Amino acid sequence: MSISITDFLSSELTEIPFYVLLGEKTDYSHSPLIHNTALEFHSIKAGYFALNISKQEIVLLNELFAHPNFKGANVTIPYKLTVKEYLSKMDEIAEKVGAVNVIKKEEDRSLTGYNTDVFGFVHPVKLAGINSPDRAVILGSGGASSAVVEAFQMLGTREIFMVSRKPDEVRRAGISVIGYEDLNTLEPVDAIVNATPVGMGTIIDESPVSAETLRHLNPDLAYDLIYKPQTTKFLQIAGSVGTRHVLGGLLMLVYQAAKAFEIWTDTAFPEELVFETLNATLID
Ligand code: NAP
Repeated sequence: MSISITDFLSSELTEIPFYVLLGEKTDYSHSPLIHNTALEFHSIKAGYFALNISKQEIVLLNELFAHPNFKGANVTIPYKLTVKEYLSKMDEIAEKVGAVNVIKKEEDRSLTGYNTDVFGFVHPVKLAGINSPDRAVILGSGGASSAVVEAFQMLGTREIFMVSRKPDEVRRAGISVIGYEDLNTLEPVDAIVNATPVGMGTIIDESPVSAETLRHLNPDLAYDLIYKPQTTKFLQIAGSVGTRHVLGGLLMLVYQAAKAFEIWTDTAFPEELVFETLNATLID
């Protein structure tokens, strides 16, 4: 359940310290469940609310950020770049990715921006004991794809190929941008990541690449950023062609949230409880 920023600011929900998710359409977000579970676990007297913000309502961000009970925010589509102008500083990873998904209000009331999507992506790879991929393919050229580029660079990946439907229109420093048809002539890779929305919502039954392409690329790791469904068509195909490691987006969702929670509260994130709570909610 989400609420418009206009209604939120005039509601009694602001009477306690609060964290918010800022996005255009946040209705189906799992962040309120994740963070309210963690806040309750630590008996922290604060609430987490998903806010819908239309383009016309962006001016209200000043009022929101200045509110004495505002403690921090997550940021999602399409405001990960917009919020940068309200910040006093950004951490190194947010600077590199160029996008902010976490805001913290400091003691002096200034705002710091972070990007925890990178950590959210890398952590499950490390937990699974996967060696640093030498060559990686990332499908899609949006905000999540940029975070994954940074993540692979942190993992020491030597060659990164970003795949776009319009490769001639996408420019990324130090990255080869290619089209989908080029995948069939690419030398095998170690990892492939789906950072497109293909496999969710109205295109739930589709995969961004075919079984033939996956067989040809022969990756050791297939990672889908989509978390609903937890096992996408892309991951099903990867499993069927024998890909050794398959990771779903729920891990990234939880670990980016874990990092955000620790940045905001300086307390440990109750990981096991949150996974249990989400698994009971997210039935494929
Ligand atoms: P986005 O900005 O909308 O970008 C998605 C990219 O995918 C686009 O730039 C586009 O690249 C490509 N694309 C879009 N529609 C497509 C279609 N119908 N067919 C093929 N390619 C298409 O979205 P995003 O924020 O980067 O997020 C991408 C995915 O990651 C979403 O599914 C999102 O839910 C997921 N995500 C998950 C987490 C997590 O915590 N698990 C975090 C962030 C994002 P081209 O135009 O260049 O082809």
